[in-house]
Amino acid sequence: MSANAFLTKDIVETWNAQTETTELLSDAGFSDSEWVNQQLETEADSNGIERPKGYTVSFHYNPRVEDHHFGGKHPMKPWRLTLTKQLVLGYGLQFAMDMWQSSASTKVDLARFHDVGYLDFLQRVTRGDEKSELFQKFQFGDDCPIFEGMWEYCTLYAGASVHAAEKLVTDQSDIAINWSGGLHHAKKMQASGFCYINDIVLAIQDLLTQHPRVMYIDIDVHHGDGVEQAFWSTDRVLTLSYHKFDYQNFFPGTGALDDTGPADIANPGAHYSLNVPLRDGIEDMQYIKLFHSTCGACINHYDPTAIVLQCGADSLGGDRLGKFNLNIRAHGACVEFVKRQCHNRKLLIIGGGGYTPRNVARTWCHETSLCVGASLRDELPNHIPYRRAFETPVNGDGRLYPRLDNLPSPKHHVNEHTEEYLRQIEENIYEQLRYIKGAPSVMMQYIPVDYLKVRMEEEDVLREEEQMMESKKAETKRKRKEKDVGARGEYRGV
Ligand SMILES: [Zn+2]
Repeated sequence: MSANAFLTKDIVETWNAQTETTELLSDAGFSDSEWVNQQLETEADSNGIERPKGYTVSFHYNPRVEDHHFGGKHPMKPWRLTLTKQLVLGYGLQFAMDMWQSSASTKVDLARFHDVGYLDFLQRVTRGDEKSELFQKFQFGDDCPIFEGMWEYCTLYAGASVHAAEKLVTDQSDIAINWSGGLHHAKKMQASGFCYINDIVLAIQDLLTQHPRVMYIDIDVHHGDGVEQAFWSTDRVLTLSYHKFDYQNFFPGTGALDDTGPADIANPGAHYSLNVPLRDGIEDMQYIKLFHSTCGACINHYDPTAIVLQCGADSLGGDRLGKFNLNIRAHGACVEFVKRQCHNRKLLIIGGGGYTPRNVARTWCHETSLCVGASLRDELPNHIPYRRAFETPVNGDGRLYPRLDNLPSPKHHVNEHTEEYLRQIEENIYEQLRYIKGAPSVMMQYIPVDYLKVRMEEEDVLREEEQMMESKKAETKRKRKEKDVGARGEYRGV
């Protein structure tokens, strides 16, 4: 029996039923009244939002991921996901996509990549364990602190990526989006750079069950080291990362131009890790031109059957940690370009870094609109519950596309790129591609039956638990609404 026979709709059917849009709306702070729904439909109509013709876009998310945060001073704010969701729903983009509420990944799922001892620690560690030997061993620390609900947070964002990949693998979706994923620094048994579980590796593993070649593209300002390392020794995944590179002064300090995979040319992964190291202050046209030429050449040469695009938004101008001067539309131009290469390819779009929440939300909303082929108006709809987070000149003046390339110092970075430097990068990438002798063609690896059975059983149990939690949550919400209408503005009519 072929792997196709196992990956039929049955498996996907074991996931939660498609989310009612109204549930997501109330979770996002929209009142779920008929009137609001009417407003959103009108908004969608005025932006020309409709289901794309000839392909399906799916959106994968579990709002519970927003309940967790790394600590008040940590730059990673799940609040950015709340704002993203509000913009996506506020413009009415849900009318153009399949909206899925994904389940948490199981430990069995995560162990496909991660070390079981590491997962055990991640699951049971609590605050106060900071002095333990394992805390050091697995490299937790200031960047990757222990926080309450950490296990749930990790399994939720990973679950959404795995779910998205499965929708692509089973041909129920052509472009699948998970903005809560993209945590590209996590290693097999090491937390790193705000990342604990590498959802991208898990999703690519799923894609590899059906796709001979998967290309991973990373436009986060940081090097996609965890993904590169995971697929270091295979020619079935080509990784291509665009990032700021400074060996000593910018995390993670890897991803130089001549880092192209294992040095041993007998290793199948030799030359299948490509890197585009950038300096401070790159601007829109330089970035777009470089991305088009180098990424286009890689796609043409490698001819992947599926592409995973990590859209870390810390490469935007004004990011709290980033060093570039990019505008939202320039970042989106990469998504648009990759999408155009995907007529016969599956595309997984995932989030990543991004530490100025309002601009992360703007960017990912814009990129969602590109996926469905819609153009959004610049003025943010008035019915967005936290619209005030986007208002005033310093926060972008209530617009979707404020300029981010002309911010006052220190948010603006001196552009250190000369045309000569960029040309050298292009030439180097073209040169590297000569070592990749055409698209590798491989025997497909079938998914072991036992593994799928375990996953299906685990999902059954999870679904039951999920249903119980949902009914409990609905009851709590109902009581809260009755008791405390509009106290924080969350259930206020708009
Ligand atoms: Zn980053």
